[in-house]
Amino acid sequence: MNFRKAFIVKPGSKLQLAKIDPANAGDFASHKKAAGEIQSQVGRMDRLQYLLYADASQSLLIVLQALDAGGKDGTIRHLFSGMNPQGTSVASFKEPSKIELAHDFLWRIHLQAPAKGEVMIFNRSHYEDVLVVRVHKLVPRGVWSKRFKLINEFERMLAANRTRILKFFLHISPDEQLARFKQRLEDPARQWKISDSDYSERTLWPKYMEAYEETIERTSTEHAPWFVIPANHKWFRDLAISTIVADTMEDMKLTLPQPRVDLKDIRRRFHAAENAKP
Ligand code: AMP
Ligand code: MG
Repeated sequence: MNFRKAFIVKPGSKLQLAKIDPANAGDFASHKKAAGEIQSQVGRMDRLQYLLYADASQSLLIVLQALDAGGKDGTIRHLFSGMNPQGTSVASFKEPSKIELAHDFLWRIHLQAPAKGEVMIFNRSHYEDVLVVRVHKLVPRGVWSKRFKLINEFERMLAANRTRILKFFLHISPDEQLARFKQRLEDPARQWKISDSDYSERTLWPKYMEAYEETIERTSTEHAPWFVIPANHKWFRDLAISTIVADTMEDMKLTLPQPRVDLKDIRRRFHAAENAKP
C-alpha cells in the first residue's frame, strides 16, 4: 500500500470526511502483523534523522491535528521516541496566553519552527486558529476566514527556507472517541488526561468536521500537504504516519556532509599521538 498516495488530500480537491473510513486498516489484518513493519519504519525515520541533523541544511515540520482522544500524544510517543533528542522537539499549542493573544496568530508558531537540521513536531498548531476559534466563534468569520491564505503564505515561506512540511489529521469515529473516553475514566493511569471540555467539544462534532473539511481543502498545498489518516486502529495510524514520514525524508536527499578537515593530515596527527603514548 502506498500510504502517501492513499491518504494525501490532493491540492485543490474536495474532502468529505464522512466518506473516509476511520477504521480502515488497509491489507493489514492485525496489530501483530503490522508491528514488525512499524518497527522497521521507525528505524528508517531514526537513520534519516541522523542524516538530517548532520546535514543541517534542511528541516522537517510535522503537524498533528485531531479531536480529543484522537491519538496525537500516542503517535508522538510511539513514533518519535527513537529519534535522537538532539535535533528533535515537540511543541504543544494550548489556549493562547495573554501575551500570545496580543500578537498575530502566527507569532507563537513561528517561534517554534524547526531550525536547520531539526525535526519539529507540532501537537496542535496554527490550525487551531481556524478550527476551535471558528467553532467557538472566538473571532469573527471575517478574521478567521482570511487566515487560510495567511497560513498558506507562511508555510510557503518556511518551505522556501528548506523546511519540509507534513500535516496529519488523525481521523477517528465518534464511537472510537467514546471508547477512549471510557478507558480514560476507568484507567487511573489515564485519568489525568480527562478535561471537562472533552464532553462539550464532542457535542460539536459536526461543526468540527465542517471546519476540518474546509481547512484541509484550502490549505493542502504542494509545499505543505495534508494527509487524512484513518486512526481508529492506533497501530494502523502509526504504520501509515511512520511510512509517510520516512518516505518523505528519503526524498529529501539527505547525505552526510564532507568532513571539514583534511583527513590525511588528521590521520597523520592521530598516528603521531598514538606513537607518543607512554
Ligand atoms: P490539549 O491538546 O488536550 O492539551 O488541549 C489544548 C486545548 O487548547 C484544546 O482544547 C485546544 O482547542 C486549545 N487551543 C489550542 N490552540 C488554541 C487557540 N489558538 N485558540 C483557542 N484554543 C486553543
Ligand atoms: Mg485534551
